[in-house]
Amino acid sequence: MKRKEEMTWWERIYIPEIIRGLSVTTYHFWRNLALHILHVFGYARDTRAAYTVQYPEERKRYPDTYRGSHRLTLKEDGSVRCTACFLCATACPANCIYIEAGEHPDPTVEKFPLRYEIDTLRCIYCGMCVEACPCDAIRMDTYVHPRIWGYSREDFIETKEVLMERSRKLAAGGRDALMIELLESYKAAERQA
Ligand code: SF4
Ligand code: SF4
Repeated sequence: MKRKEEMTWWERIYIPEIIRGLSVTTYHFWRNLALHILHVFGYARDTRAAYTVQYPEERKRYPDTYRGSHRLTLKEDGSVRCTACFLCATACPANCIYIEAGEHPDPTVEKFPLRYEIDTLRCIYCGMCVEACPCDAIRMDTYVHPRIWGYSREDFIETKEVLMERSRKLAAGGRDALMIELLESYKAAERQA
C-alpha cells in the first residue's frame, strides 16, 4: 500500500516542483514591486505590498499566554508581595535571579526582598520562576518583550523598583501601557542616534 507521505513520480523528478516554487517567489516579487511603485504615486493605497508586520509602526497583539518581561506584583498598600523565599531563584535554570532578603518592619511579615534583580541577558523566559512562586509575587503577563539595546551588562539588569513599577503601570494604563512606553523609548533612542 502506498504511504501518504510518499512523493509522487512527478514530485520525485524535482524540476516541476522547483519551477512551482520559483513561480510563487517571482509572483510575490513582481506583485510587491508593482504595488510599491503604485503607492509612491498614490495609487492602490488600500492594498498591502508586503505581508510582514511593519514593526514597530504595526504590532500584532500578543496572545494571552505570552511570557513577557517580569513584574513583581504588589499588595493593596502598594508594597511588594514577594516574601524573599528564594523559590524562584532556586527554580531558575539560568541562575539569573538575585535576591537579598531583609527583615520586614511588620512583625506579621517574615521577610521581604531588599534587593530583587533579574539579569535579562541570562534569562531564557521559561516561566519557571512564575510557576515556583507560592505567593503569586512574580508574573510575566506584561505583554512586553525585553529591552534589546544597552551599552553595558548593567543596562539589562532589572531591579526590584523596575519590576514593581511595571505592575503599577499595568494597573494604571492597561494591557498595552508597557508596550506603548517601550515603543516611545525606541523612538527617543532613534532621535538621539
Ligand atoms: S523566566 Fe526562567 S530563566 Fe528567566 S528568571 Fe524566570 S526561571 Fe529564570
Ligand atoms: S518572587 Fe515568589 S518565589 Fe520568588 S522569592 Fe518572592 S515569594 Fe519567593
